[in-house]
Amino acid sequence: MQTAEITVKSALVRSRIPGVDYVINPYLGCGHGCKYCYAVFMKKYARRLQGQAWGSFVEAKVNIAQVLRAELARKRQRGRALVASVCDPYQPLEGKYRLTRQCLEALRDYGWGLDILTRSPLVLRDLDILAGAAQVTVGFSIPTDDEAVRRITEPQAPPIPARIAALKRVAEAGIHPWVFIAPMLPMNPARLVEIIAPYADRVLMDALNYRRQVQHLFRKHGWDYALTEEYAAATRAELGRLLGSKVKGARAHE
Ligand code: SF4
Repeated sequence: MQTAEITVKSALVRSRIPGVDYVINPYLGCGHGCKYCYAVFMKKYARRLQGQAWGSFVEAKVNIAQVLRAELARKRQRGRALVASVCDPYQPLEGKYRLTRQCLEALRDYGWGLDILTRSPLVLRDLDILAGAAQVTVGFSIPTDDEAVRRITEPQAPPIPARIAALKRVAEAGIHPWVFIAPMLPMNPARLVEIIAPYADRVLMDALNYRRQVQHLFRKHGWDYALTEEYAAATRAELGRLLGSKVKGARAHE
């Protein structure tokens, strides 16, 4: 993994995601390196590590928390921010830099609502901050129940059982836990619902949007069926049906 430090001039980026005013991305690049990642286009914005493969480089925005505090101080109204949208805020480098933690402290201090989306149990390190923040939700991306599929599609991300254990801890801490099933990878829908439903307040879903990116990989493993619109629609319907009676906020991503 190649890493570099960069400085930024802005932290809050306006969002078109429903219910979210801004997004914050403490890192450029993502050490989880998911094969289907929708954020691969961010490579072109790399400042010091140009031309690297997605998942093999990360630039840490080392002054982002200071910049964020200055921006929050200038805002007339409080808002709601998602951390993060084009990187995992708890990717391995966060263990060293603690940039996400510093951003959460700033959002808490200014009374902003915040939503976290991650694949990593490292978020548990920051439960002390989240417990004192306003309107917090913590989402875990769990796109399959199958560890064999996870190992192939998300080789550098934490295992599914570790995410479930962290989801449980978040629920026990009284923080709104949710699950993002996106993309819908090869899975056993009933098994996935069985492991997430006891803890998730809400479940969002989205299809595989960059099929060409994983076409070769999926074919190599005999998952051609999961590349189709039909698979996405049928899986969404099945998950929705299974979740319907168990999780009140189960819906497809808009
Ligand atoms: S964790 Fe998210 S941002 Fe990071 S590589 Fe995976 S899909 Fe992309």
